[in-house]
Parts: sequence; structure tokens; C-alpha cells
Amino acid sequence: MRGVNPTLLTGPPMRLRLGAHVLPMVGRVRMYVCGITPYDVTHLGHAATYIWADAAERVLRWHGHTVTVARNVTDVDDVLFAEARRRGESHTMLATLQRASFENTMATLQVRPPDLAPSAAQHIGHVVQLAAALLDRDAAYERNGTVYARTAHAAAQAGFTHDLALERAAEFHDSPDDPDKDDPLDVVVWRASKPDDDVSWPSPWGDGRPGWHAECTAMVLALFGPSVDIHCGGADLAFPHHACEAALAEAATGVTPFARSWLRAGLVSIGGAKMAKSSGNLVLVEDLLREHSPGAVRLLCLNRPWAQGWTYEPAALDAAEATLQELYAAAARPGMAPGAAAVPAALLDDLDVARAVAVALEDGGQAARTLIELLALS
Ligand code: ZN
Repeated sequence: MRGVNPTLLTGPPMRLRLGAHVLPMVGRVRMYVCGITPYDVTHLGHAATYIWADAAERVLRWHGHTVTVARNVTDVDDVLFAEARRRGESHTMLATLQRASFENTMATLQVRPPDLAPSAAQHIGHVVQLAAALLDRDAAYERNGTVYARTAHAAAQAGFTHDLALERAAEFHDSPDDPDKDDPLDVVVWRASKPDDDVSWPSPWGDGRPGWHAECTAMVLALFGPSVDIHCGGADLAFPHHACEAALAEAATGVTPFARSWLRAGLVSIGGAKMAKSSGNLVLVEDLLREHSPGAVRLLCLNRPWAQGWTYEPAALDAAEATLQELYAAAARPGMAPGAAAVPAALLDDLDVARAVAVALEDGGQAARTLIELLALS
């Protein structure tokens, strides 16, 4: 009996609902989390995404699953190279330092370290393999040393109109106006080197480097095979990144769906605008942690529907801190029996933290202790 969650021995079969998807879960669960491009400090928007992925992982582990989490590092990327040039540092040094700082912040926030932490630079060979497979299946074409994949269908599948897809492709540097493309929504799998490139690798099509979407596809295929159970990231990654990542994998392997479900955390805004390094509109996690507990920051991110965008207000963090204190007080009460089972049940139902918190506060005792432990709010 030791080490066995008692609810597993008597409970119903495990089903996790994530939005419209109800996932029967048996045995091992594969989670892939789109990680950071390590070129600057961690802001609250990043943290919210990784805290949600961590919460999903903890719920599954609590229900007895073996969860394997891979969270990548995008260390081959134009924004990283540009920032390194601006600072006069090598991009590998910048990436190493920023990655260490990010991991430190995640540890403080009690985000469990991933089981696998692949980086794009370690998987160049797998990107070349992916490009070759796509060419072989006529899902890609080569022009002047660049390999493009035919991903125009991915926008409609992801629910994006053609115009919006073009706008998003430009925003995410997918160069929809590249004259070598058959379709403006095709994406680069392998990009031919340009004269001033910081780094390149050899390939059958000449020196070059991977495209961003292809990096994640190649890492997933290398680590998990042709599919994953839960694919996580920020809501802004729905298109083009996730849609194209899936299109590349499905075209290369023939296995669908590439992801059984998507956990895309709602974006965090501040003052009515998206939180982003590029706009300087940021709340840094290290600043919040100077005056607030990690548990309060976690609860601030989690005590709301996971898919919904939200606006950061300092008063909301104070309120989260107050709710946390109420939870600790509730945990010290004797409590009512039904709550202890209702908390994990709420979390299985679309990660409904708000309902779980309400139950824990109402019933107290074991219900509150379960919630605090399960979501690492201590
Ligand atoms: Zn990704």
C-alpha cells in the first residue's frame, strides 16, 4: 500500500478535461512545453504559462501517473543573436546566463524542473532528418538552400482566417512576403545561411540553420515519437507556432493528432497591452518575489480559467496573498470529509482551480491541505 494513492485503488477511471477535450489517461503521460528563448529576464507572462503546465503535471502525478515533461530552450533564434550582438557578448554565453536565471526563478516559484530540457542546438540533426522526411513525402520543397514546408492548410485548421494568419505570420517573423515561397503561409524548416549569420550547420542543402517551428517539432519527435498527450505554451503560440509544429509532424510521420490536447495559458496584459519584452511592457517575477511569497504568485496565476487572458494589477496579487492566508487558516481547521475528494475532482475538470479553492475554503481541513500540497502553494 505504501506509495499508492488510495483513491487509485477505489476511484473511477482517470479522465482529464482540458477545454473541449476529455482525455482518458492511462499510465505514462507525455507533456511538451514550449520553453523560453534565453535572451532576457523572466516576466509574469512566461511564469503564468509554466505555472499552469506545472499545475497540470502535479494534478496528473497526484492521480498516480508517471509524467514525463520536456521543456525546450530555443537557443538558435534571431532575437537571441540580435540581443547578444547588442550586448557585445557571445550568444552561447548570453543563453547560458539567461537560462540559469530563468531556471532559478522557476525553482523559486516551485515549478518542478522538467525531466528533459532539450535545446535546439542539440537537435540540429533531427531537424535535418525532419526536412528530409518532408521533402520525401512532397510536403516540402527546396529553393536556394532553404527548405519550405507546405503549411498553408494549418491556419484554417487552427481556426484562423487567411488575413489574420498572414498578420500573425509577419508578427512571428515567418516572412510571408518571401518571394521563394509557393504560398505565403508556408514555413521554413531549414534556412540557408546568410553572409552575416552568427551560426550555421551543414546539411544536404548547404549550410544553414533550423526554422523555429521545425525545432520544436524535431525535439518532440526525437524525445517522444510521433505524438504527445499535452502540449503546452502561451496562448499567442496557437498560430503560427503550434499549428505549424503540428502540421510538420503530422506530414512527416503520418500520425494524427500530433498533440492529444493543448494547454495554452491565457496571455497576461498590463495596462491594456500584452506583456512582452519587445514592447518593454513588463512585470518581472523577481520584482514581485521581493514583496510577495511564491505561493501568492502561483495562486494569482492559477485562480482563474487557464485559457483566459487577464490583466495584472498589484491589488490582485495582494488579494491572492490574502486568499493564501485564508487557505492556510482553513487547513488548520478540522474540516468536513467530502471536500478532500472534491478538490482533486475539480482540478481534473478543466483544471478548475477557482472551484477547488472555493471548496477548500468552505470545507477546510483535509480539503485545504490537499489543495495546498497539490498545487504547491506552501
Ligand atoms: Zn515550441
